[in-house]
Amino acid sequence: MISHPDAGKSTLTEALALHARAITSAGAVHAKGDRRGVTSDWMELERERGISVTSAALQFGYRGHVMNLVDTPGHADFSEDTYRVLAAVDCAIMLVDAAKGLEEQTRKLFAVCRHRGVPVITFINKWDRRGRDALTLLEDIETHLGITPVPVVWPVGNAGNLRGLVEAGNTEQMLRYTKVPAGTHAALEEQLSSEQAAEQEGETWTTALEELELMLSSGPGYDQEAFEAGKISPVFFGSALTNIGVKLLLDAVVDLAPAPGPRPLAKGGSREVGEEFSGLVFKIQANMDPAHRDRIAFVRVCSGVFERGMHVTRAASGRSFATKYAHTVFGAERTVVDTAYPGDVVGLINASALRVGDTLFTGKKTEFPPLPAFAPEYFAVARPTDISRSKQFRKGVAQLDEEGVIQVLVSDRRGDQAPVMAAVGPMQFDVVLHRMEHEFSSPIALDQLSYRVARITDADGAAALAKARLINGEVLTRRSDDVLLALFADKWQLNAFQRAQPDILLQPLIATA
Ligand code: GDP
Repeated sequence: MISHPDAGKSTLTEALALHARAITSAGAVHAKGDRRGVTSDWMELERERGISVTSAALQFGYRGHVMNLVDTPGHADFSEDTYRVLAAVDCAIMLVDAAKGLEEQTRKLFAVCRHRGVPVITFINKWDRRGRDALTLLEDIETHLGITPVPVVWPVGNAGNLRGLVEAGNTEQMLRYTKVPAGTHAALEEQLSSEQAAEQEGETWTTALEELELMLSSGPGYDQEAFEAGKISPVFFGSALTNIGVKLLLDAVVDLAPAPGPRPLAKGGSREVGEEFSGLVFKIQANMDPAHRDRIAFVRVCSGVFERGMHVTRAASGRSFATKYAHTVFGAERTVVDTAYPGDVVGLINASALRVGDTLFTGKKTEFPPLPAFAPEYFAVARPTDISRSKQFRKGVAQLDEEGVIQVLVSDRRGDQAPVMAAVGPMQFDVVLHRMEHEFSSPIALDQLSYRVARITDADGAAALAKARLINGEVLTRRSDDVLLALFADKWQLNAFQRAQPDILLQPLIATA
């Protein structure tokens, strides 16, 4: 589920899970005010800031299907993590606040879905409150995202005056919602025939039908292939808080979202879901729980059956290891998992050899393409404030790099004693400062650098940069995967350099803007 913060992601997660009866009371998923005694240092930072830093995977069954809902941290500065999560999913639900329309973070996340070919279902939320009109919202999606919105459900009544919903495939019926007395949020649902709707709702009903008709006649209509190819996005309206339209959305996930399919391999070809086990490590998280000082590698099962205790091979090193500790993890809850199937997410505890982007497999050698690295826009030099702790410093920096908390760059000018930390958003620095001090006992200082633009280059580019930097300060750095990155103060400096040296490779990373 992707959205700008506050669009209602947690609320909708709860509502979906409640419909599928995965949890027993609303609030159990994201108890924002009360984290049920979770006291890890890390969560402390999260609590101080009141934002969600963790991602989780929630599994539930519905209509004979199993769904894995992967949450993503909403805050823009943790977006690198979010972007990687999108590498592990088959479909995304894009949540839009009816009053705010398309917000920045939604656009960025949508761009990543497009880049990765992830089909997107749109849910326009908070229709119980005043907001924009439906046609304008869809027009914005079309213009700004370049995807054709195809309504599957249409609101009866403007935002703030929601009377009910009508399904594009069944305009003979209106689903009417009535607020119920305080104490429970869920609105009461009734089914009205179109005659009853016309009689009781009058113009509101006819307007809804006209608007829906207008949208359907001017657009291409729903087409499964176009949806899976990312050309159209089926659109739903509702209110997560009052539980309106949530069931229709859940049904759509079952009916429309593609089931796990073959995954392309780095060297061409693909791994079919029916082959032996393979999985992709899309996230590594340390110290989720202070009772177990550990680190969890989240693996999306891509093919075959995962069985706890099985020996799997890590493609990058060719080494095999036993998956003794496998859990499903959601928030602070852990359950031991014995078997998992394609699409499921397994947390491997203390698998310290694993890195973000790793492929695991049994049988025939399998390697998925590397996860995309996103263009960092903030840079700072890290140095230990207590030099007697340089061993802890190195260990901490290496671990944060492996977890993908931040990109660690070694600059030719500063050497590896003063690594450059590169972030997509500045709040990643806060996580680094906090964890270096509290987890690795090596407090650090971060000196901000004035670069804003990074480009991938090669050996020739490196040589050209080495000559040029004496005059205007471009810097060459090396990432831990040995990719060379050239840093520039801004686009103008980059363009000037490229004009002067048109043959030099300066390749953009995946932009999130
Ligand atoms: P997140 O940051 O995207 O996870 O958003 P939350 O689920 O925490 O919701 C942010 C705020 O919007 C909360 O105060 C919710 O109660 C409120 N909210 C969420 N969905 C709705 C809705 O459908 N209608 C209204 N009126 N408020 C909502």
